[in-house]
Amino acid sequence: MTRRYDLQVHTNASPCSSAPPERVVSAAVDAGLDGIAVTDHDTLENVDAVRKAAPADLEVVSGVEVTTTEGHLLALDVTAVPPRADPLAVIDDVHDQGGVAVLSHPFDSLRQFYERDLEALADAVDAVEAVNSRCVRRRYNERAAAFAIDHDLPATGGSDAHFPMEVGRAYTTVEGRVDVGGEDGLEGNGSLAGAVLEGRVRPGGRGRYLSGHVATKLHQFRTAAGRTLERIESGGSARR
Ligand SMILES: [Zn+2]
Ligand SMILES: [Zn+2]
Repeated sequence: MTRRYDLQVHTNASPCSSAPPERVVSAAVDAGLDGIAVTDHDTLENVDAVRKAAPADLEVVSGVEVTTTEGHLLALDVTAVPPRADPLAVIDDVHDQGGVAVLSHPFDSLRQFYERDLEALADAVDAVEAVNSRCVRRRYNERAAAFAIDHDLPATGGSDAHFPMEVGRAYTTVEGRVDVGGEDGLEGNGSLAGAVLEGRVRPGGRGRYLSGHVATKLHQFRTAAGRTLERIESGGSARR
């Protein structure tokens, strides 16, 4: 079974968005999504309003896009707003809450981005957003995809919608089981968080600026990795 989530959606609880919860929900339904993560800047204010507006078959993940001292960080499945702090401290806070930490548009140098402690970040974080439909330059997403592959991290996608029409432009495909149930619909095995942690996710979408290219790049990386493995396994010409 495959489900599709937009894992980065803003509402009018973000200063830079004027999208009311009801409009975001209807856009998500129109886009045929199975779920969205509400990820306003440093607030959980509108999560409940989006849940109230959502039909039963649209899963709403409680999230925050945290402003760290470096780049932005998606805190998914959290119940409290993490502090605006050093990224490693923010990731710790997310994990203490049982949430999932995802680097958000990590190398988009036209916005807040990451350039320090990248190895420590890769060790700490759960996933990398490799398709963000608001990255103006293709290479920002390509670098994020390469970083995820190099560090064997799951890759997610999100529209980063600030307007309803953008919802679903990029998304995360989840393979296998996602149980919607439990108290907040996300508890226990089979949750969206679990799917991210287990790597049962892949980014997709045809954003305004990109994304076929990212899919191509991901495919190229995989193919290249496969060839290297074959060479090593066959004891072949890895050295020449
Ligand atoms: Zn951001
Ligand atoms: Zn955002």
